[in-house]
Amino acid sequence: MIANHLAPFGTSVFAIMSRLAAEHNAVNLSQGFPDFDGPDWIKAAAKAAIDTHSNQYAPLPGIPTLRNAIAKRFTRDTNLPCDPDTQTVVTVGCTEAIAATMLGLLNPGDKVVLIEPFYDCYRACVALAGAHVLPVPLRPVITGNKITSMQLDEAALHAAMAQGPKLILINTPHNPTGKVFTREELTLIATLCIKHNVIAVSDEVYERLLFDGAKHISIATLPAMADRTITLSSMGKTFSLTGWKIGWAIGHPDLIAGVRAAHQFLSFSVATPLQHAAVAALEREPEALAQLLPLLQEHRDLLADCLNKIGLTIHTPRAGYFIYADHTALSCRLGVTDDTALCMALIKNPGVAAIPPSAFYTQPADGHSLIRFAFCKKRQTITEAIRRLHTLA
Ligand code: PMP
Ligand code: GLN
Repeated sequence: MIANHLAPFGTSVFAIMSRLAAEHNAVNLSQGFPDFDGPDWIKAAAKAAIDTHSNQYAPLPGIPTLRNAIAKRFTRDTNLPCDPDTQTVVTVGCTEAIAATMLGLLNPGDKVVLIEPFYDCYRACVALAGAHVLPVPLRPVITGNKITSMQLDEAALHAAMAQGPKLILINTPHNPTGKVFTREELTLIATLCIKHNVIAVSDEVYERLLFDGAKHISIATLPAMADRTITLSSMGKTFSLTGWKIGWAIGHPDLIAGVRAAHQFLSFSVATPLQHAAVAALEREPEALAQLLPLLQEHRDLLADCLNKIGLTIHTPRAGYFIYADHTALSCRLGVTDDTALCMALIKNPGVAAIPPSAFYTQPADGHSLIRFAFCKKRQTITEAIRRLHTLA
């Protein structure tokens, strides 16, 4: 009974792998969520909001205090003005912001440039809007036993942008690779947006989870981009509260009008008490990050070392939740053929779940030699995963 435009996407790989991890009692390094909670003081703010009559529908674009906080934060980060009344909308996580952007701005037959690998909902949301994907690859550059960069295919980008897309959807810092796009790469994308009159949609949910002094740049801050960019984010990663699903879109009033036009009929509004708690969270953001960032970076390093030792060719992420790796040597040793077969084998023995990335490519074969591991987990989870993986060394 599934509609034709959704049928090709089946069930999201995140749901499948988390279910399989539970069934096989595997350590779950597949779906990107922390197995610990965000700060108690944010949870207390949500409980207080529930107890003080904040339990009916919120206004369609989000409660004013949260939109003010989002606008102020954006201005602090980017130096760009932002009118909370016309330039922001609160959504059900960044996922709804992506869907509402596609459904609110695209017409059937429009084209959208996606940089692949991409977060799996991008392609499905483009399809929901009846639009078409123009893929542009990030190619792994392998030097010795490392992926030293995930290189943007500039020729493919030029070619795709010349085909008259309405939007380009970019994601920096990037899931699944942990790449932080450089100013040069963003400048090329911006130049082509201006030249071909394309709107940039920038998914920045990992904007705060930066390692080794990496600097995040919002494409909206590049010359002549502020009025043609929609910047998306959410509080899930920054505050380790992925289940709260509080996200937002920021942009020129004409663009946000499109996002709101879809949002009003997708969800109308977002959980009221959690919006109040989000205001409290954003007021004390540095406090939440001071706890989280050292833990993430340490877990990245521990897991990276282990994955290297078992023969994976890893890309060291400069941000985010994930390590991306080429598994050719390991899968040859284990006698398996592709990403899905390797992930199935690892779930059973030694009992560790990872993500097969073929769902992140328009041509699944492009992901066959790759694998993604999440390190946004408790120390004991990472230690147990490492103990199990070492049996493959
Ligand atoms: N964009 C990217 C790149 C993601 O990795 C995720 C999910 N983790 C999302 C968007 C969705 O964010 P949210 O949970 O706020 O809907
Ligand atoms: N973004 C998370 C990941 O990449 C998963 C989100 C989801 O399950 N939809 O693992």
